[in-house]
Amino acid sequence: MLAAASLAPLKSHVTADEALLYGYSADSSRTERQWEEKMRALPDPKNLRAYMERLSARPHHVGSPYDKDNAEWLLSKFKEFGLDAHIENFRVLFPTPKERLVELVDGGPHFTAKMQEPAVPGDPTSNQTAEQLPTYNVYSIDGDVTAPLVYVNYGVPEDYEVLERHGVSVKGASIIARYGKSWRGIKPMVGAEHGAIGCIIYSDPRDDGYSGGAVFPKGPWRPKDGVQRGSVQDSVVFMGDPLTPGIGATEDAKRLPIKEAQSLTKIPVLPISYADAQPLLEAIGGSVAPREWRGGLPITYRLGPGPAKVHLKMFSNWDMATLYDVIAKIPGSTFPDEWVIRGNHHDAWVNGAEDPISGMVTVLEEARSLGELLKQGWKPKRTIIYCAWDGEEPGLLGSTEWVETHIAELQKHAVMYVNSDSNSRGYLELEGSHSLERFINDVARDIPDPETKLSAWKRAQLHQIETASSSDERHELRERHDLRLEMLGGGSDHAPFINFAGIASLGIGYGGEDHGGIYHSIYDDFYWYTHFSDYDFVYSRALAQTGGSAVMRMADADLLPFQFADFADDIKMYVREVEKFANQQRDEIQERNLKILEGAYEASSDPRETWVTPKREDIPPHLNFAPLDNAVESLTRAATDYQKAFDRASANGGAALAGASIGEVNALLIQSERKLTTPEGLPGRFWYKHQLYAPGAYTGYAAKAIPAVRESLEQKKWKEAEEAAARVAQVLDAETALITQATAKLSAAAK
Ligand SMILES: [Zn+2]
Repeated sequence: MLAAASLAPLKSHVTADEALLYGYSADSSRTERQWEEKMRALPDPKNLRAYMERLSARPHHVGSPYDKDNAEWLLSKFKEFGLDAHIENFRVLFPTPKERLVELVDGGPHFTAKMQEPAVPGDPTSNQTAEQLPTYNVYSIDGDVTAPLVYVNYGVPEDYEVLERHGVSVKGASIIARYGKSWRGIKPMVGAEHGAIGCIIYSDPRDDGYSGGAVFPKGPWRPKDGVQRGSVQDSVVFMGDPLTPGIGATEDAKRLPIKEAQSLTKIPVLPISYADAQPLLEAIGGSVAPREWRGGLPITYRLGPGPAKVHLKMFSNWDMATLYDVIAKIPGSTFPDEWVIRGNHHDAWVNGAEDPISGMVTVLEEARSLGELLKQGWKPKRTIIYCAWDGEEPGLLGSTEWVETHIAELQKHAVMYVNSDSNSRGYLELEGSHSLERFINDVARDIPDPETKLSAWKRAQLHQIETASSSDERHELRERHDLRLEMLGGGSDHAPFINFAGIASLGIGYGGEDHGGIYHSIYDDFYWYTHFSDYDFVYSRALAQTGGSAVMRMADADLLPFQFADFADDIKMYVREVEKFANQQRDEIQERNLKILEGAYEASSDPRETWVTPKREDIPPHLNFAPLDNAVESLTRAATDYQKAFDRASANGGAALAGASIGEVNALLIQSERKLTTPEGLPGRFWYKHQLYAPGAYTGYAAKAIPAVRESLEQKKWKEAEEAAARVAQVLDAETALITQATAKLSAAAK
């Protein structure tokens, strides 16, 4: 117990009629609030700053000496804080550049891309050239191609429809795409699907350079030679080590030969700066690019193909590297077999002060704070596991291989995974499983926003009201008890937990006020972060308070605070969206066919310009989504019944929640996210087992709801869409059955 003296300053927050924490009896609620208040006072900006300075002092990509050094330092810190910590190793494929070349050989003055980021005077780590990885896109295949160049805008599927209208084909050409809009691996993938043989990706100043403001070191934006490194792994089918799909990359794992690795690109890829891109783009002829395609360079953007002809060469050292995941545990006192997991990655592309260290330091400070509470007598009911992942940047390697290795235990024991990655100033951004929507909204109500002194929740709500695009949206934001969680997409370490293992997951972070263009370059360093981002580390503290509170509140609850009313409401919205999309698609195709018939396209195109009229398409059939609608209705009823049982169990001080039989309800709740997966996964995507959310096959970062239906519609596979709808309905029915069972057990416990 806490000493009476140390309780005194907390008194004002704990009143007798205060609402119970969700899933807590009155006694445990009171105790929990006190421990959480104590925890939230512990994270210290001075520590956060010192950790960042240490962890970002040298380049620390996968396989580098400082990556290992950081892991060992993190291990020693976790131990010092009183956690039971160890390092877990994996062996993964990690190619690094052997030969890189981009040269303009025709169509303009001969030019060779520099592909070198210069050191900046005054920035003390930017000159660590011996340890910096060259600029490249990992998991590009080897290749040496010379071909005419086509500008493809962001290189997403819609861009190819525009090219087609202009009569431009990329067959046999190399493409130059700008960064943005999609996960970068989509660009070479879609290019190759259209017949391109090489791919250059560049950072346009409109997107993260001087169009935004002063460039580094005067301001935070990308300087002319800054390059975004990054993975171009083909992640449609699976994530993680390319040689061990679906299984842990342990020392003795069965590995594919490199030439059978499916997740390498089909064509060679290299990233370049806008200084290097300008002469190439300038040499492209053909039609002027549409207005929205034009970037911020002082040139006329044209589509090509040619006369610019580019020689592109990319060869890698196809080496294996060792990963160092740091895993630290606090054993649970009452339910040691129920695990609450929290993580962030520690590897970077170069020094990585923002990505990932700004997130990593908060996780470390959380661990220190919880360690302090342990010394003062706090005993979490459930086991807590803190993780510092290695190898996130190449393809979520450290988290994926760990989850794949421990999949059986995790499926039995894991209650929740909470992820963060980078952090900066601004609004709390929440993503995750919708059964945790109430839970994390409640946590956010208890976190003070450092700049406004509102709660983080209130500030986020007001910001969303301010930026909402319709009055319906604003109405909902004002009236709905909880802010809706965004879906988790790809792009960070939550993916193996939610998509592969079906573990309820959250992504947390602050942002929206700091901008810049140093992502994955040598300029993402301590100097940049402490000049242009959260330099007083108050939002790092806020994130540590948020993550720490979430972990504690889940670990200490009597009844696990999963809630299904919000969940059912969100799923209903997603089902409506997918149905609306099917109707819109039908309307659009109908309208286009009509315009073709009328000759509207020909009549409005300039005969001196090339213009290709789209082809007529069959009008999609009306699809049967009734099974999905029925499933959502049953789910909604089951969620309401659960809520009633919950309210009864929480009445009169919630003594029922502390009873022995509550464990049986918890056992069901732990399985509630697992029920949303199927063993075979999404069509053609075995690793993505979750049936409600997945990163889009053609967007990569952005998530798609009910992906099997949505993506079948997008690919105009009508029969598959209808079959998928029936399958998802079955998954929802299984969820409904589980909730109904939990309701019965909870009602029995409350008697
Ligand atoms: Zn990151």
